[in-house]
Order: sequence, then C-alpha cells, then structure tokens
Amino acid sequence: MLTPYYAEIKEKLRTIFNLVDFRSNQLEAITATLAGRDVLVLMPTGGGKSLCYQLPAVCESGTTRGVTIVIGPLLSLMQNQVESLEEKGVDVVQFNGDQDLEESGRVGRRLLAAKKPNILFVTPEKLQRSGRFNDILERLYEEGYLARFVVDESHCVVKWGRDFRDSYKNLGSLRTKFPNVPIMALTATANIQVKTDIMRLLKIEHCEVLSQSMNRPNLNYEVRAKASGRTGVIKQIADFIKECHPNDTGIIYTSSRQMCEEVAKVLREQYRLQARHYHAKVDARDKEEVQQAWQSGKCKIIVATIAFGMGIDKPDVRFVCHHSLPSDLDGYYQETGRAGRDGNPSDCILFYRYIDAKQRRQAITTNPDINKEERDHQVDELQRVVQYCQNDVDCRRLQVLAYYSEKFDVRLCKQGCDNCRNPAAPEKQDVTATAVDIIRLAQALTVRDKERITRNQLVDVIRGSQNAKVKERGWDRQPLFGLGKDTNRERIERIVDRLDNMGLFDQVTMAGGDWSSSYLVVCPNHSRHA
Ligand code: ADP
Ligand code: MG
Ligand code: ZN
Repeated sequence: MLTPYYAEIKEKLRTIFNLVDFRSNQLEAITATLAGRDVLVLMPTGGGKSLCYQLPAVCESGTTRGVTIVIGPLLSLMQNQVESLEEKGVDVVQFNGDQDLEESGRVGRRLLAAKKPNILFVTPEKLQRSGRFNDILERLYEEGYLARFVVDESHCVVKWGRDFRDSYKNLGSLRTKFPNVPIMALTATANIQVKTDIMRLLKIEHCEVLSQSMNRPNLNYEVRAKASGRTGVIKQIADFIKECHPNDTGIIYTSSRQMCEEVAKVLREQYRLQARHYHAKVDARDKEEVQQAWQSGKCKIIVATIAFGMGIDKPDVRFVCHHSLPSDLDGYYQETGRAGRDGNPSDCILFYRYIDAKQRRQAITTNPDINKEERDHQVDELQRVVQYCQNDVDCRRLQVLAYYSEKFDVRLCKQGCDNCRNPAAPEKQDVTATAVDIIRLAQALTVRDKERITRNQLVDVIRGSQNAKVKERGWDRQPLFGLGKDTNRERIERIVDRLDNMGLFDQVTMAGGDWSSSYLVVCPNHSRHA
C-alpha cells in the first residue's frame, strides 16, 4: 500500500509542518497529486485542505517538479498563508493586482531563476489579465517546471455557487493550455451539482474524487423562534451569549449592512457586549482592523454579512448565530462551519420567523436586476431554507446533509440538534382536519365577507381571541371562530404558515401611513376545495 512518496510525505509533515498525523483524506490527496493525477478534494470547512497542496509543494519525490501554482480568491487569505509558510521556511511568492511593477518584476525573476520557489499564490483575475504572467507560466511549462495547479475554493467556478467569480470560470483554460500539468481542486461544498460542475468546468472529469462526510459532530444545531420587532431578537441573542458564552468568541450573521451595524450597536450599548460590525462597505483598513481584533481575541463578537468569512481560520469560534434567514442551505452550512474548528462543542443557532421568509421572497420576486431563471433558482433555495426551519421533527443534520445528497444515520447526531433532543417531538400528527377548517374560516372571512385580515389576526380568530380588533370587526361571530382554542399559538401559526407556504393564500399589500400591511386572501383556485 505504501507509495514511493510516503516516506518523504511523512517526514515533511513532521519537520516542516510540525504535525504527527494526517486527517481524513489528506494523505490520499497528497499522494494523488504527487503521482500526477487530477484530484478533487471535498472537505468541510476547517477540514485541513491547505495541507493537501502545501505539503506536496515541498516534496521532491513526485512525478513532476517545479512550482505549485495556487489560485485562490482572496488576497488576505493568501497573505496569511504566505506568512505562516515563510515562518516554516517554505519558499513562497505571490502575484496579485496590488503589487507595483517593481514588485511583480521581482516575483517574475524569482520564478525564472534557477532556484524556484515552492509555491506561487495568484488570484484568478491576475491569471486572466496579466499577459506577462502568462508568458512566465508558458516558459515554466516548456521547461517542465509547473508542478501542479491548485484551485482553492473551487466552487467559485460555478454559476449558481454563492461565491461565483467571473474570472474563475476561465480556469478551464488551464487544462487546454497546460495539458500535462496535474490539477487539484478543493472545496467545502459538496452539493452533487456543484461537484460535477467543478469537474466539467475545470476539465478534470476523470479526476480522483476524495470526499468525506460533511457532518461536523461537535456542532450543535438549533432553530429558535425569533421574537417579533426589531429589537426582540437582539435581546434573544444577547441573552443567549450571556447565558451560554459569556467569554467566548462568536459570529452573528445578518442579511443587510444596515441590520449588521444596528445589531452590533445595540449589543454594545444596551447589553455591554464587545461587538463589532463587518460588511462589504466597511472600508478596507477598518475591515482589516476589525478582523485582526477579532482574530486576536480583543473583540469577541463580530456581527457580519456574508462578506465575512471565506478563509477565516479561527479555531475557537464557540457560536454562530443567524439573526436573519440565510439565502441558501449551502451558505448556512458554510457559515455555521466556521464554528468549532478545534473540534470542541460549539453552538449554531438560527433565529427564524416566517415573516422574514415572506419578505425575502418578495424581495427576490420584485428584484428587477435578475432574470426569471435566476429568480426561480433563488426562490427554490429560499424555500429549502424555510423547510429546514419549519421542520421541527427531523434531525437537523439529516436535513442539511440531504441537501448535499449525503445519507445520514441520525443516531450519529447524538442529541446534537434541537429536534433530536426534543423528546416531545410530535409524531406525525394529523393536522388535515384542522387545516381544512382553517381554510374554510379564512375563505369565509376573506372571500365571502371581503374582510381585510392579516396573518396574525387570522391566528387570533382561529384561537378565539377576544381582543378589540376581533370584536370591533365582528369576527367572533364566524361559525368557525375559536376552532383552535385548545391548541397553542405556535402550532396554529405553523399550520397557517405551511398553508401559506403551499400557496393557499394570496398576499395583498396595502400601503397605509408609515408602513404597509399584508392581508391574506384565500386563492380562488383553493377556495373551491374548502
Ligand atoms: P480548510 O481550508 O479545509 O477550511 P485549513 O487548511 O485552513 O482548513 O485547516 C484548518 C486547521 O486545521 C488549521 O488550523 C490547520 O493547521 C489544521 N490542520 C490541518 N491539517 C491538520 C493535521 N493533519 N493535524 C492537525 N491539524 C491540522
Ligand atoms: Mg481553505
Ligand atoms: Zn439531530
């Protein structure tokens, strides 16, 4: 079983990287690329992908020699790697758009000199645009000094990928221009579609695929009912942190820049928590500073948009909260995957309320900047997130791993999610009868009596609430008034939301005063069934 490279691999692991053992699939990936084979490495965030190309880059016993070209999306990330590799005595250079002519000239000369660096880091943009750099690559190729290409975060080639990058899609030319150079692609995304797209686009259809379970056993997954109002959820988050993670490092994801700043501010001013914000529009120097403060532990909590995270390597992140709904499950899993890289228990809490999904859906369907295909795609992705949030029966891991087409044995969850822990998980209760009555009631109100009623008011009527609005409008005289008076409010809300989800209601939005309200109307084609 031992390959001719094994002895050297083991030795370099110890002497250069100061590690004793490989993690799952690292040795296989290193061996494959040293043997000159193409390889696709699928590993969860924090799994140790970097070693898969850093180590072969310093080996001499492979079938190829010369420079390992690493293509990655982020300069900051490369910078970190360059520094840590230099500390280990590895000869690395980088080539990026920020460099002046003199600097890039020096890099060029280093590549063409007799003693080559082990690794060159480059962004796909630079690779695409710099003619001079491409000349250098060609020369290296002709002289037989291109050891391998490494495409890190390779899901960026895929159009539907959340991190899609225009210049990544041209990486297919690597194979056509340099046919003999082995390619290694790495990603934390294991969605089958994305996987096949990566292989197709990089033209490595026959590569060795190394994948492993995406399960992260040390992460606790929970969905919590999100309080209403702007500040309710911030209190929930603050309470959670104070109770469970008073001195720990964590990330809070929000969906907009404005929300991101507001949450950080309230956490600081009202709850005395050390929180800073981070989003795409924060200027570069501040971003750097915030990230540094967080990385070093000076600032514990970062409130962020999705702009924060790719390539973050902080081992002791103890919690990741989602203040707002993520836009797709893959993104959600990647974001939560930033917790607990050191293998210690960590919490991933998503705060969900139906109205968020509703608003998000509306934002997608009315977005003038996207075409129908993209709109449908985004709505589908959102729908899967909503289903995940609303499914309070099945193991969270089972649900999220199903998204990656991975079958998961729920016993392996070991009470590691809210649904597995909840002993009162409702066995499949038959809610059909209640649901039919709810539709009947809603139809009588909205179609027959033409009442304007919001979702929350409908829930009041179902539960037989005697509040002022109900009395004033005479809703308590409906025959089905209070049909759900013995059921708790949450449950009724869930049924109503599911009906809505199934498309049984139309939304009529009316602007009034400072805000607009959404009223429910039973869709004509459904009212017939009731
Ligand atoms: P990824 O790119 O897959 O998200 P990284 O390559 O950044 O993950 O590695 C995550 C962490 O795991 C790093 O701190 C790294 O030093 C550590 N690591 C990687 N391989 C090993 C190993 N074989 N033994 C111990 N620690 C490792
Ligand atoms: Mg990585
Ligand atoms: Zn579970």
